[in-house]
Amino acid sequence: MTNRVNVVVVGGGQAGLAAGYHLRRQGLDFTILDADPAPGGSWQHMWDSLHLFSPAEHSSLPGRLMPAHAGETYPDAGHVVNYLADYEKHYDLPVQHGTRVDAVRRDGERLLVETDSGTWRAKAIISATGTWSRPFLPAVPGRDSFAGRQLHTVDYRSPADLTGRRVIVVGGGNSGAQIAADLALDGQAEVTWVTQRPPRFLADDIDGRALFDVATARRRALESGRGDTGGVTSLGDIVAVPPVRAARDTGLLVAKPMFARLTADGVRWADGSHTGVDAVIWCTGFRPALVHLAPLNLRSARGHIPTDGTRALGEPRLHLLGYGDWTGPASATLIGVGRPARDAARTIAQLL
Ligand code: FAD
Repeated sequence: MTNRVNVVVVGGGQAGLAAGYHLRRQGLDFTILDADPAPGGSWQHMWDSLHLFSPAEHSSLPGRLMPAHAGETYPDAGHVVNYLADYEKHYDLPVQHGTRVDAVRRDGERLLVETDSGTWRAKAIISATGTWSRPFLPAVPGRDSFAGRQLHTVDYRSPADLTGRRVIVVGGGNSGAQIAADLALDGQAEVTWVTQRPPRFLADDIDGRALFDVATARRRALESGRGDTGGVTSLGDIVAVPPVRAARDTGLLVAKPMFARLTADGVRWADGSHTGVDAVIWCTGFRPALVHLAPLNLRSARGHIPTDGTRALGEPRLHLLGYGDWTGPASATLIGVGRPARDAARTIAQLL
């Protein structure tokens, strides 16, 4: 069965929904295809204790404010899932859940979108598949010989899974700090946190609001030709959300330098000493989920698809949304994705 539509949005997480909101405003006919059977994008898969690093009113998609979370300044992931499900319903966005896009191909004037349940022919595509389905594991010596458990951020749910275990958490970003803090505050596992370089905590009064302001200032500076102001990473890497702050301030969150290698039953440190370990949690980031776009042959040597804003340089009918700052400053955040989504929808409306 082949369906025809003006625009196909691949992915129905926050980026796909923001795209849907703006495509509707442009009066375009579109479908959103989402691999997950339920609304909420990657938020429905995050660990139990995860909270946003911004208050609800600073975590909203275009058009509809995220409601406050009773009793909590920083809402949890479940609250975001509810908000996204409500957003989808409120705007009656045509999301087809449980549909995985396998490939996008050129087909004359149209793009062919092949899925596990039919084919779509579209005049334009917005790819908004995020990064959650592509966890990145670094090539660390001995990784294959380690006989214990290896998890990535995407596999971690709660400390209960690791009670009584000796656990190494690898990674100096937000996921590493938060998961190490989660385990350390729970106290039932023996946790060691290791980072490639000393962890850089943002000042305690900086949360997602300030990060968004910095990203906005950077975008304005770039747009007006004033040069790059450095973006959010110039401030540090780790937002001191309450559990991270609590663990750090009680001395439970102290990073060690990265180990030299994994052995069958633990880690060997640079000084040659050995520590027995039952589980390693790799909080080592993600890559963009772009495999469905491989037939278009657009990837650069760095693995990204070069873009001008959200539009792919090598295929003007394709836009990329979310993923990271390379598709627009802060476009991988709830509050930041609205603007690039609007720009993408406008550009597509002009194209059509
Ligand atoms: P996703 O939420 O991953 O959604 C992508 C959707 O695409 C999914 O539903 C998936 O099923 C679907 N999909 C994937 N491949 C296909 C395919 N081939 N075919 C069809 N569908 C497909 N941001 C904030 O603003 N505030 C925060 O506090 C915050 N905290 C974060 C904490 C963590 C641990 C992480 C990892 C991120 C955090 N972020 C935060 C960043 C960001 O908001 C999320 O990464 C966000 O989920 C990205 O949204 P997305 O729509 O781009 O991707």
